[in-house]
Amino acid sequence: MSGLFPAVLAQLKEKFSDLVILTPGSPEYEESMLRWNIAAEHKAGAVIYPVSTQDVSNILSFARANSIELAVCGAGHNHRGNSVDDGLIVDLRKLTGVSVNPLSKRVTTEGATVWGSVYEAAGKHGLAVVGGLIPSVGVGGFTLNGGLGWLTSAHGVALDNLIEADVVLADGRILTCSKKENEDLFWAIRGAGSAFGIVTRFVFQAHEINTKVWTGMMMFEPSHLKGVVDMANKVTSEGNDGTASMAFAIFACSGELEVHVLVFYNGSEEEAKTYFAPLLELPRKVDLVQMVPFSQATMPHGSAPGRQWRKVTAGGCLIVPLDHSFIQSIMDDLEELVTKIPDALETIFACEMHNPYATMREKQTSTAFPFRGRHGSIQLMPTWTQEENDEACWAWCRKVDKKLAKEFQRRKNEEGMDETTRSSVGTYINYDGLHKSPKALYGVNYERLVELKKKYDPGNVFKRFVDLLSGE
Ligand SMILES: Cc1cc2nc3c(=O)[nH]c(=O)nc-3n(C[C@H](O)[C@H](O)[C@H](O)COP(=O)(O)OP(=O)(O)OC[C@H]3O[C@@H](n4cnc5c(N)ncnc54)[C@H](O)[C@@H]3O)c2cc1C
Repeated sequence: MSGLFPAVLAQLKEKFSDLVILTPGSPEYEESMLRWNIAAEHKAGAVIYPVSTQDVSNILSFARANSIELAVCGAGHNHRGNSVDDGLIVDLRKLTGVSVNPLSKRVTTEGATVWGSVYEAAGKHGLAVVGGLIPSVGVGGFTLNGGLGWLTSAHGVALDNLIEADVVLADGRILTCSKKENEDLFWAIRGAGSAFGIVTRFVFQAHEINTKVWTGMMMFEPSHLKGVVDMANKVTSEGNDGTASMAFAIFACSGELEVHVLVFYNGSEEEAKTYFAPLLELPRKVDLVQMVPFSQATMPHGSAPGRQWRKVTAGGCLIVPLDHSFIQSIMDDLEELVTKIPDALETIFACEMHNPYATMREKQTSTAFPFRGRHGSIQLMPTWTQEENDEACWAWCRKVDKKLAKEFQRRKNEEGMDETTRSSVGTYINYDGLHKSPKALYGVNYERLVELKKKYDPGNVFKRFVDLLSGE
């Protein structure tokens, strides 16, 4: 595989003259290279925008025939995999359709539809899908690699709600897969989809949702961390019937540490306030929680700093019930970082606390997604502006990630721990910016994925997000 030679580029432009193709020098080229994370950005030889599944198939066949290095861009939120130096980017951002069948309660999307559009379309029929908290995140990368959202407490991860998909393979073949058709491919794309092909059609099971849900952000002094952790332990206990969900984050953005909490309850305000009473008894610096339609239970401006910040993310987990003193020690680590490097003030330690038992309804090997277990998901994200701080911030991220991994190992071996939790990899690949090995990311599913990769993508065309054939 190689970059784009001028003669090949000329052929590409001739063959796909009806599609938008940008190359260095095109007016929109520079903008087309931008990603949510600067670290994901590369200078591609060209970017092409297919408008149909057949276009995607033709482009992949052309790339294969000409040995072109490829990357696929969905909505561009990941920190890797969506761009390539010198090669060709297949940018799906013209494939953003969404349709809803209210009778079957199914929602169909294209490859780069974003969650905001899905919520809006489904909401008109009183339906919702397990999707992301930020409306601009893409259905593609989110679902193919997991997908944690407010409805995870009730219905598992996004990929547990995927019924069918159309996948364009590296050789241009278009395969529909489901539990009844091309089952092995369907198994693989639910967890490792970015490594198997380009998905141009997703069909999701949607769920009825109350007209309004109780949700929003609260802010607490760090001295109330214990109360917040106790609430998270209630949300992640077996007593949660799936209606409640929560996330909390420790930030240093105003110069002093703050604890931000996002809550979600799919029920009346009265029921929500009764459920979350232990949290509401704590003094709040800010309280923006209210009843809103599900389509607005998102954070349009993002929960995380945008492209202007340098950042790295690590995607760990913490077994529940959470140990308050351990989280306090991470808070101390964070304080130490921002004291030493004030430039890292936007650094975040975030914990997504959904009812884990909904995700554990499926076995670890039911799909390729091996991050099921009695744990919450952790996102550790040092964020800074100066290049000179790159090394120190990355080192801090690795150090705290190791500490989280050690704690996970310790707790998963506790007496009486269930098998699903024991076999969880403990890293959510969609948050893994540390580029852990495929074996570490796929654990018990790794060997089968390697076999299927040889069947469906023997030339290893889709390797930029995770290179399954790179060894352990
Ligand atoms: C602000 C922000 C908020 C987030 N919130 C959440 C959250 O609430 N819950 C959660 O679980 N995750 C969340 N994430 C993580 C997010 O799920 C991942 O970054 C995800 O991979 C983004 O998908 P994308 O399509 O937008 O990104 P991209 O970077 O375009 O895609 C990610 C990878 O998937 C591949 N890909 C994308 N679409 C397709 C497709 N149709 N077919 C084949 N391959 C494809 C790309 O090639 C790339 O390798 C968030 C990320 C950000 C930046």
